[in-house]
Amino acid sequence: MRTKTAIAIGAHPDDIEFYMAGTLLMLKQAGYEIHYLTVANGNCGSAEYNGAMLCSIRNTEARAAAKILGAHFHPSITNDLEVFYNLEQLRALAAVIREVKPGIVLTHSPQDYMEDHTNTSRLVVSAAFTRGMPNFKTVPARPTADYEVTVYHALPHGFCDQLRRRIIPGAFVNTTSVHKTQLKALAAHKSQQNWLDVSQGMNSYLLAMENMSLAAGRMSKKFKHAEGWRRHLHFGFCGPDADPLAEALGKNFLVNKAYERLCQRGY
Ligand SMILES: [Zn+2]
Repeated sequence: MRTKTAIAIGAHPDDIEFYMAGTLLMLKQAGYEIHYLTVANGNCGSAEYNGAMLCSIRNTEARAAAKILGAHFHPSITNDLEVFYNLEQLRALAAVIREVKPGIVLTHSPQDYMEDHTNTSRLVVSAAFTRGMPNFKTVPARPTADYEVTVYHALPHGFCDQLRRRIIPGAFVNTTSVHKTQLKALAAHKSQQNWLDVSQGMNSYLLAMENMSLAAGRMSKKFKHAEGWRRHLHFGFCGPDADPLAEALGKNFLVNKAYERLCQRGY
């Protein structure tokens, strides 16, 4: 059994808009209920405000962004640079997974330029893994359920790992038709926009996302704007060939054959 629910879990407020929101919007169009959670609250993302004030500002911005995406908002569980693979955070995230019961989980790449992102990726994988294990206690306590979930990892920042090596996606999602909404959701993170180029009506922050989705689009050789994904190994999550993004998105989903050639199973 698989639910038609998807959750995007990023490290910081705005990461979902940067790396995952196009796909989340496409899933919503395909009939999925969508959910939004950033593990950290963004309290270090500016030098202009103190941590508590910034945390409150960024919470308001993230809620506004989730509303633009049409996603259910879940509150953050820790501070920036305090995302660790520890039991407290795992219990909290596992509780959210048990509440939401996602058939699709979108999260960061296991390799990325900063530890909050890579730790989020690890936490999310384990939180999804424990969905049917009653002896693993969540906080707050939530009942387990037996269902299939497939975890997808976004492309890392700069499309490379911590050691500068190139990462290529296993598949592309065409985000062209929802790109404007994705930009609008990103723009809701007003505290992150440092300067405004009045002549173009666009600031550097939005341009960075624009460049990233265009670069993924070029890599696809098919779509104008795209997000790239790598599917987590199925053991403990779903059937070996389960690919619910492909199933839900049809012609707006494209397998990257170059990556598939690297994925020959050991047995
Ligand atoms: Zn981040």
